[in-house]
Amino acid sequence: MAAHDSVERKYVYDFAEGNKDLKDLLGGKGANLAEMTNLGLPVPPGFTITTEACKAYLTTGREPDGLAAQIEAHLESLEREMGRRLGDPDDPLLVSVRSGAKFSMPGMMETVLNVGLNDRSVVGLSAQAGRNDRFAWDSYRRLIQMFGKTVCEVPGEEFEHALDEIKRAKGTHNDLDLDADDLRGLVDAYKKIFAKHTGREFPQEPREQLDLAIRAVFDSWNAERAVLYRRQERIPADLGTAVNVVTMVFGNLGPDSGTGVAFTRDPGSGAQGIYGDYLANAQGEDVVAGIRNTVPLQELEQLDKTSYDQLLGIMARLEEHYKDLCDIEFTIERGKLWMLQTRVGKRTAAAAFVIAGQLVDEGLIDLDEALHRVNGAQLAQLMFPRFQLDHEFEAVAKGIGASPGAASGKVVFTSARAVELAAEGEAVILVRRETNPDDLNGMIAAQGILTSRGGKTSHAAVVARGMGKTCVSGADELDVNVPAKRFTVGDHVVNEGDVVSIDGTTGKVYLGEVPVMPSEVVQYFEGELHPETTDDALVRAVHRIMTHADAARRLRVRTNADTGADAARARRFGAEGIGLCRTEHMFLGDRRELVERLILASGEREREDALAALLPLQRADFIEIFREMDGLPVTVRLIDPPLHEFLPPLEQLAVNVAVAQERGEDVAKEEALLAAVRRMHEENPMLGLRGVRLGLVIPGLFAMQVRAIAEAAVAVVRDGGTACPEIMVPLVGAVQELETVRAEAERIIAEVVGDSGVEVLIGTMIEVPRAALTAGQIAEAAEFFSFGTNDLTQMGWGFSRDDVEGAFFWRYLELGIFGISPFESIDTDGVGRLIRIAAEEGRAARPGLKLGVCGEHGGDPDSVHFFHSVGLDYVSCSPFRVPVARLEAGRAAITTTGSDSR
Ligand code: ADP
Ligand code: MG
Ligand code: MG
Repeated sequence: MAAHDSVERKYVYDFAEGNKDLKDLLGGKGANLAEMTNLGLPVPPGFTITTEACKAYLTTGREPDGLAAQIEAHLESLEREMGRRLGDPDDPLLVSVRSGAKFSMPGMMETVLNVGLNDRSVVGLSAQAGRNDRFAWDSYRRLIQMFGKTVCEVPGEEFEHALDEIKRAKGTHNDLDLDADDLRGLVDAYKKIFAKHTGREFPQEPREQLDLAIRAVFDSWNAERAVLYRRQERIPADLGTAVNVVTMVFGNLGPDSGTGVAFTRDPGSGAQGIYGDYLANAQGEDVVAGIRNTVPLQELEQLDKTSYDQLLGIMARLEEHYKDLCDIEFTIERGKLWMLQTRVGKRTAAAAFVIAGQLVDEGLIDLDEALHRVNGAQLAQLMFPRFQLDHEFEAVAKGIGASPGAASGKVVFTSARAVELAAEGEAVILVRRETNPDDLNGMIAAQGILTSRGGKTSHAAVVARGMGKTCVSGADELDVNVPAKRFTVGDHVVNEGDVVSIDGTTGKVYLGEVPVMPSEVVQYFEGELHPETTDDALVRAVHRIMTHADAARRLRVRTNADTGADAARARRFGAEGIGLCRTEHMFLGDRRELVERLILASGEREREDALAALLPLQRADFIEIFREMDGLPVTVRLIDPPLHEFLPPLEQLAVNVAVAQERGEDVAKEEALLAAVRRMHEENPMLGLRGVRLGLVIPGLFAMQVRAIAEAAVAVVRDGGTACPEIMVPLVGAVQELETVRAEAERIIAEVVGDSGVEVLIGTMIEVPRAALTAGQIAEAAEFFSFGTNDLTQMGWGFSRDDVEGAFFWRYLELGIFGISPFESIDTDGVGRLIRIAAEEGRAARPGLKLGVCGEHGGDPDSVHFFHSVGLDYVSCSPFRVPVARLEAGRAAITTTGSDSR
């Protein structure tokens, strides 16, 4: 058998041999370079070393058999084609070595340009470029710098210092002022730096340069940052990266050369047109590095009309071919255009919708594909209120949009001050270098959080997202001085109490208060903007895609709403019923007093009085909600939280009683209350006397609620409406609990409903792991299940949901233990497994059992796809999330051949 293994694998592909569908094997960059080559576009010749070779190298620690020979063969044919040899002293072929995984990944080795230059070939390069010494030595110093930094881990600053030094000696800031002699000197300085850090001379042998660079790309797959990023993004660790070896073309040969980047449409708005930047007399990396100011791509028309026209033709061709917005990198070498990269380009949320709509109009894609190309996270972003930026406001800094939203407020620098000012009713923005767990109270009190350090997974960012609070992190132009209570940015000094505004989507920071307005997409959902009459391209695109999503989806979407107003809004947003109406709030406000009476009741009589007083209030609440949801199902959850939550806190009560006693007042009632609070105190209220347990322990409580629901339904029906109540029992862990509640409820319903035609379903939440595991039994007593994924996650993981997100999730995210909080997106492996089991066993026991979700996960895009795959009937989420859930339910239901949307 072993003999067969000696059949050599193909590890190297010429660009002419690949295509865009081979991303797994050739990486994104390589697959697209091959695709462009085969389209006949001008791509500098080259070849790609496969991810297979990388994987083999990473498992065995050495290059696989045959790889060296295959590289040699491809290099030779490249040399033949170009008529030059790698590093030839007289007329050198130079190449770039570029990494390219399936998904682009921060932390991976980037690119080494000008491989093949050495002390001798630099002379040949100059001669070939018409005695352009400056160009040759500039290229050589770039090689040592990039090679040193990325292949040999020489600290990049050392090279930069050496460059600054020479510029300073020359009295200039512009690298174009350095002449050939300066650059020759720089090469010497660079070589010394290289030798100092690596203990060896800069390799002069071109083939050795090439091999070391290829190996460095392989190794960078396991660089710490890349590993972390993959863990967080759940990119498999065993994909490996490809390596592209590409013939160098030079944009730095003079004014008739240059380099640029372009988009085939505006990646900001989606508008059609020409968007890009061009930099004359420069090498690729200069454009992104911002070394000199680029000019808009349109100006290339004046500089080089032939290349410009050719470029536009190629861009149109690429769009038609990829059927999507493409971004490209190109270089012009002495009037000849070369394509160096293309890919389906990144875009803003608004552009994603607009472009998908345009592509349908242009007949390039169908509506299924358009739906596939947008997502719920983008839609959610478009629904945040935004700053009204029509005049005067200009951002003073730009950080990372870490948690969306628009917030204005007075600047504070400490958590304590934030709490203080917020208590006085002020809106505040908490500004820190970076937050830590001690800042939690301040973050809660603040309108928004602004930090000068940290990224998307820093403490501030994670906690803010968990709280749904606007946050801009890593605004590094800010110099934050906490002890002095001020920060500086540019020429501005901002003191405590000054007002700033932050945009958590764009990451922009503004001085002063920027007015806020609802987004046009929300105006559309509210029915204030009509797709037929508006000229807003975004609204029209959103409407079209939402309509298609609704037609495609199998999951229904309900809302979590406790009031008529919420119910009405959710209905406008497309909700098809209420999946969770919490009854807790009906025990708050001036009704607290009734709850106190209920708790303090010394006998059956007093308790019944208190319940009787609550009954009409609850009934009125339900009538309002049933009316708003006329004709649609409304799931009402019987009271869930521990009753002592409705009483004053222990310490406050104890102080009140002591003070009153001191004054000699009559404190009998307060003392009774205090005693009750002491008696009911729980160490773990989340696991204590709540949910169904309350209903079983406090006689008449659930009965009163059931009666109020049934009576409300009858009242609505008598008025000619249609009420479809569903009574949901919380925190059930055993079928016996549910059976007990059910027996009493059925009796009451039968009595109230009579022949009114009202039908009331009785079901349960599945939120205790035991309930999920005994779902077959529980289904015998339930007409529906609603998964309470918040509690199921809390009890499944053993995470106290009120504490953990702020306390340590940032660390878990940093370590990649999970890529996203399991409270935000369902943990499909663990908690999801409980749901699967319960769904299967519940339906087996009772065919037709209705299954839904009422945790916040119901509005989370990835979770919606999971719930679709499990075969649930509906998800329920907060009103603002309803459109997101509709869109994602539609996306989950379509299958397309479209590209990977990661
Ligand atoms: P990144 O993925 O970081 O953009 P690239 O491999 O695309 O890395 O290369 C970095 C820069 O170098 C880009 O501007 C690219 O166009 C340029 N570049 C890469 N290979 C060549 C080449 N063979 N000739 C000229 N420029 C190149
Ligand atoms: Mg690139
Ligand atoms: Mg719960």
